[in-house]
Amino acid sequence: MSGSALYTTYARAPLTFERGEGSWLITDTGERYLDFAAGIAVNSLGHCHPHLVEALTSQARTLWHVSNLYEIPGQTRLAERLVEATFADKVFFTNSGAEALECAVKTARRYHFANGQPERYRVITFEGAFHGRTLATIAAGGQPKYLEGFGPKVQGFDQVPFGDLDAAEKAITDEAAAILIEPVQGEGGIRPMEADALNRLRALCDKHGLLLIYDEVQSGIGRTGKLFAYEWSGAAPDIMAIAKGIGGGFPMGACLATDDAAAGMKPGVHGTTFGGNPLAMAVGNAVLDVVLEDGFLDEVSRKALLMKQALASIIDEYPDVFETVRGSGLMLGIKCRLPNADVTAALRARKFLAVPAGDNVIRLLPPLTVTDEEIRLGIDAIREAASDLTAQTAQQTGSAA
Ligand SMILES: *Cc1c(COP(=O)(O)O)cnc(C)c1O
Repeated sequence: MSGSALYTTYARAPLTFERGEGSWLITDTGERYLDFAAGIAVNSLGHCHPHLVEALTSQARTLWHVSNLYEIPGQTRLAERLVEATFADKVFFTNSGAEALECAVKTARRYHFANGQPERYRVITFEGAFHGRTLATIAAGGQPKYLEGFGPKVQGFDQVPFGDLDAAEKAITDEAAAILIEPVQGEGGIRPMEADALNRLRALCDKHGLLLIYDEVQSGIGRTGKLFAYEWSGAAPDIMAIAKGIGGGFPMGACLATDDAAAGMKPGVHGTTFGGNPLAMAVGNAVLDVVLEDGFLDEVSRKALLMKQALASIIDEYPDVFETVRGSGLMLGIKCRLPNADVTAALRARKFLAVPAGDNVIRLLPPLTVTDEEIRLGIDAIREAASDLTAQTAQQTGSAA
């Protein structure tokens, strides 16, 4: 054995966190980091939120797992609440985002199968998308770096350039089943779709009898200041995959659909052992208790504006480090001029955690419960890191001359 016993699939930062408190992570040596990565948009209510701790521990003393052979009241309740708050009529619970997407694609294909058109199975997706790491979701995302070496690409996914609606329409054939899109690309570099574009995609789907699938695994559960990002456009999907924020750190996901879209999903056609187990459902319901509280989402939008304005002024101060800020709510991206890996490392040296993304962007995804004071501290850390990088660059240029 060489090195660690783990697969070498991750390039981990040399940090070990022992505890989390709200927006803070504390290392095994007691150093405090301000966490604007939030487990990649997962810790929606920060670390160890008391309401989630209470929900999880009290469920843990009662019942952990029974399987989907039996009724699970927490599942019924969480499904009813998601239905109440969205376009959807039906919910299927999973353990992860990729599984939620798998369910979404299967739901769309079964819909056409049940309508007597089994030949309609192809799904149109967009370049730069990220839908997960299973064999089907790497095919859906279409990124060569995730497909390479894993055998033939799963059939039935057609990619068009990001935001190119004419190309999307041209890609619609007699075999097309659905269009799948992230209303805000996360991994791809915080690239939001215009409201108008989502409305046009909705119209395209209606015109050609396709289902519209949203991937709100990252943008959902309050991240953009609405419960779901699609609400900004008014263009509702037929099917939607969610995960990350709904569990607040407990692994879970869900596929939401209208009655019509889910009509083909009959007993026995799909399943999961762990999905929707009582522990996950207790936490999911507790997350909704907080996020659906009166005024919570308005606060997300207010804090987001504060942060975006402060970031815009840092970008003006350090045009050699940063280029632009984009995104909505507390799902913000800064496009960098220096390599985003260097910027992330400089931020980490200032005890501030962010996440790199595609298009040379760093993602800022603080807990939705972040305070104004923590935003100010974060902004200070970003300014200090930018100043550090500027000094380093000047030194390198100086020594090269
Ligand atoms: C993270 C993510 C996924 C995959 O979720 P996993 O839980 O890692 O399977 C899918 N889509 C989007 C938009 C994501 O951000």
